[in-house]
Amino acid sequence: MADMLARLHTPAGDHFMPSTIFEPFRIKSVEPIRMTTREERARLLEQAKLNPFHLRAEDVLLDFLTDSGTGAMSARQWAALIEGDESYAGARSFFRFEEAVRDLTGYPHVIPTHQGRAAERILFSVATKPGDVVPSNTHFDTTRANLEYDGVEPLDLVIPEGLEPRTRHPFKGNIDLGRVERLLAEKGERVPFGMITLTNNSGGGQPVSLENVRAYAALLRAHGKPLVLDACRFAENAMFVKLREPGQSERTPREIARELFSLADGCLVSAKKDGLANIGGFIALRDERWVEAARNLLILTEGFPTYGGLAGRDLEAIAVGLEEVLHEDYLRYRLRTAEYLGEKLLRGGVAIVEPTGGHAVYLDARSFLPHLAAADYPAWALSLALYLEGGIRGVEIGSVMFGKRLDDGTETYHPLELVRLAFPRRVYTQSHFDYAAEVILELKARARDVRGVRFARQARYLRHFTAEFRWA
Ligand SMILES: *Cc1c(COP(=O)(O)O)cnc(C)c1O
Repeated sequence: MADMLARLHTPAGDHFMPSTIFEPFRIKSVEPIRMTTREERARLLEQAKLNPFHLRAEDVLLDFLTDSGTGAMSARQWAALIEGDESYAGARSFFRFEEAVRDLTGYPHVIPTHQGRAAERILFSVATKPGDVVPSNTHFDTTRANLEYDGVEPLDLVIPEGLEPRTRHPFKGNIDLGRVERLLAEKGERVPFGMITLTNNSGGGQPVSLENVRAYAALLRAHGKPLVLDACRFAENAMFVKLREPGQSERTPREIARELFSLADGCLVSAKKDGLANIGGFIALRDERWVEAARNLLILTEGFPTYGGLAGRDLEAIAVGLEEVLHEDYLRYRLRTAEYLGEKLLRGGVAIVEPTGGHAVYLDARSFLPHLAAADYPAWALSLALYLEGGIRGVEIGSVMFGKRLDDGTETYHPLELVRLAFPRRVYTQSHFDYAAEVILELKARARDVRGVRFARQARYLRHFTAEFRWA
């Protein structure tokens, strides 16, 4: 992996390796950031019932809540918006979008949706039944919730290294093939298809190797089961394969991405990630099996099959984004950004998920706040402290997101307590990341003062979005 680090620095040529991140774009339009004081932020956080999702974005200095739909579009994408054909049926923009998705994935059947979770809900409604089990490396929160809503058990079978924040492994997003094999042998009749998340968002944004996807697909095929990729970050995953997998360094990210898709039978994609768009998603499928039922459901809740809940201009922006995201200079800058912040934090003694993933840096809250117990929700507490200290908004990936209040009132807890700082694409510069590092290191020096929280209110599904808290 040492090799990878050096390669990531190089904008062009190899006679000179500047350590500055070369952002491979010029900025044409800027959006001012409103400054806030610590006192103001303390008040705003109380008003938000200690839930960063309830803050107004204009009260946030660096918004690392999500990389979803928050990216900056390129001049080519803005130009494509004007080309948007807003015809209800058969719009030219749909065919451009369909062509871009087919060209990337090789799947002939393309169903647009307004975002990733709509694709999930539609596919799961037509392809699963109550009592089914769907394995993945780690299901993303909306994926898990949509399966559970249909009475399906989402099973997370990431390799053991994927659950150990400090263990370095080039492909910590890999699925544990032994456990998949056992599942198929013991409960195969309950498995309608297998899934795998590229990159593994909830497990630290960690990539999956080409070899692992190939072996997983073969295992599923031997049992007559299709493989569906949750391919939201296909481009970042492809770049990691290029940098880390033996024999892949000479291939383009596009060639690698195409091969990843070729190993599977279909995909669910949120275009708000590697689609470089602010909204959108799609289902793409190799054979006809689920297509008709999915299109019928699409018409019921999303729209006609040639727009699926999107405007023609959105389809245009996604078509361009799917192409731009695979540019190697962009992907180098993208992965280097996370790595750069990660290096600064590690040098300052902050435990993070290692190695850094593609779209985010994940702080290990249990190590950051050793004085807090699981019942204090340490990752949630750390996310609040980051806002108070420096106006940074991150998101908890821990027991608020993945734990549950059972019917008897007891709480279940998640093995990891992480705060994800996810980076909007092409939005922040190296200076912003330097500031973020300063805030986190300053907070570390005063970590003992950070208090835990308790739930004041919670909903049954996706409770982190709406919950209210009080200080412990
Ligand atoms: C964002 C995301 C989704 C859901 O997509 P939305 O567009 O937010 O509905 C599903 N899976 C993964 C891995 C994601 O990152």
